[in-house]
Amino acid sequence: MYDFLIIGAGIIGSSVARELSKYQARIIVIDKENDVANVQTSANSAIVHSGYSDNPGTLKAKLSVKGNKMYEELEEELRLPLLKTGAYVVAHNKTEENQLLELYDNCKRNQVPKFEIIDGDEARKNDPNLSDSISKVLSLPTTKVTYPWEVAFAAMEVAIQNGVDLVLNSKVIHIEKKEDFFVVKTQKGIEYHTKNIINAAGVESDDITKLIDGNSPFTIKGRKGEYFVLDKRTKGFMNHVIYPLPSEQGKGVLITPQYHGETLLGPNSEYVDNKHHAVTSFNGLQYVKKHVVDLAKNIPFNQIIRSFAGIRSTSDYEDFYIQESKKTSRFFIVGGIESPGLTACFAIAEYLVNDVINMGSLYEKKDNFIKSRVEKIKFNELSIEEKKDLIKKDSRYGKIICKCEKITEKEIMDAINGPLGSKTIKGIKKRTRAGAGLCQGGYCEEKIVKILINNFGLKPLDILYDKEESNLFVSETKVEV
Ligand SMILES: Cc1cc2nc3c(=O)[nH]c(=O)nc-3n(C[C@H](O)[C@H](O)[C@H](O)COP(=O)(O)OP(=O)(O)OC[C@H]3O[C@@H](n4cnc5c(N)ncnc54)[C@H](O)[C@@H]3O)c2cc1C
Repeated sequence: MYDFLIIGAGIIGSSVARELSKYQARIIVIDKENDVANVQTSANSAIVHSGYSDNPGTLKAKLSVKGNKMYEELEEELRLPLLKTGAYVVAHNKTEENQLLELYDNCKRNQVPKFEIIDGDEARKNDPNLSDSISKVLSLPTTKVTYPWEVAFAAMEVAIQNGVDLVLNSKVIHIEKKEDFFVVKTQKGIEYHTKNIINAAGVESDDITKLIDGNSPFTIKGRKGEYFVLDKRTKGFMNHVIYPLPSEQGKGVLITPQYHGETLLGPNSEYVDNKHHAVTSFNGLQYVKKHVVDLAKNIPFNQIIRSFAGIRSTSDYEDFYIQESKKTSRFFIVGGIESPGLTACFAIAEYLVNDVINMGSLYEKKDNFIKSRVEKIKFNELSIEEKKDLIKKDSRYGKIICKCEKITEKEIMDAINGPLGSKTIKGIKKRTRAGAGLCQGGYCEEKIVKILINNFGLKPLDILYDKEESNLFVSETKVEV
């Protein structure tokens, strides 16, 4: 019997698992995907927002300002990737400058720690590619950029090292309440017994609520966002995150420098009927191209290396819904977590565990909680001397598998063998960045396949790109591996 069963291993389920694992409780996380952070958490702008645009008095406003601060507090402990860029919200004329003043007031009411309005020319000194027509900007120095997969892995790794069980490839399809516990059934026919459930199922958090309550206090509509990724040779094209003024459609099409040097252009905002179908479209990407030129000149469109889409879990509740179900006690809902969910994740977890569940009154804290995460070696970031020493200790550090990102064989092996290891091509990319560079895996994918075959006994036909049935190879040829 588990004390807590968390449905969903996105950034929210992972952060909640970490927070709960501070207590003497039996915890399990179940996800339908074959990896942590595979849905909304894998396809977003990666911005740790300042809290500038959220409606004052909402949980979104409170938890994004707090969450932003918590990233800095946890940076070292969890080894979080953080690029302290700051952000500019731009105005082009008097009407927009007045809207900027309203946003300035919003920052005050949300208690954003630092913000100021500066002239366009001053902003262009820091970011010369900002459009010449920008007259004023709202500067938000606490805005940062992170690497969302790594944040989810950090939280989940800490949870696992503190005893949390993680079960993947398991879609929850049925929940039944017995006298004082729940029976949770997955598509594979396996049943789990638990005293409490936390529903952190992202775009499906309303559907999961319906499984036990019959209906849901909110409905999620998928809202798609599409992006272009510019190669990391564009590093420095823009130093700050650049936002247009927010509108009813959200924060708008942005320019976002990424942690590893790429530049993101996007997203658009389009309601979709199928909230599971995150695919790019010609029209969506054209929309991004059309609007991003309002923000900057000289945009290096010739450096586009890929495009992607994510689907936001936009709810008609219009705020984060973080409450115990009004119908079923001990069933906790963390639903409608669209932006700024990545920003607020650690604050959401604390709020749920301390204020909603009131964990401290129910369970003892562990005195042996392991708060830090084991440090991963990033070969590419080391000095020549450090690299030489490592190669002497393990020659696999001397073998570069991914040339674009300079990822070594030993790092690939660690990603497969690690506490949250993965044997899929995408899983290895998420953990190491092999395949994330200019050639998008053209060079290294075949080498990773060989590592999987030679070291882990996988058969070529069994190797998956990502989910079940995403096999890399469909049949044997006469070529031997
Ligand atoms: C285009 C876009 C841009 C964004 N930009 C930002 C940004 O810059 N900054 C920011 O702060 N936020 C941003 N966000 C929001 C942020 O990405 C989300 O708030 C956050 O990722 C939500 O995490 P989650 O864990 O709730 O959802 P998810 O990551 O979607 O995780 C939910 C998990 O539940 C699992 N699940 C669902 N149903 C079941 C089931 N039946 N059984 C088992 N498992 C199930 C899913 O497989 C999934 O892994 C953006 C979102 C999008 C889409």
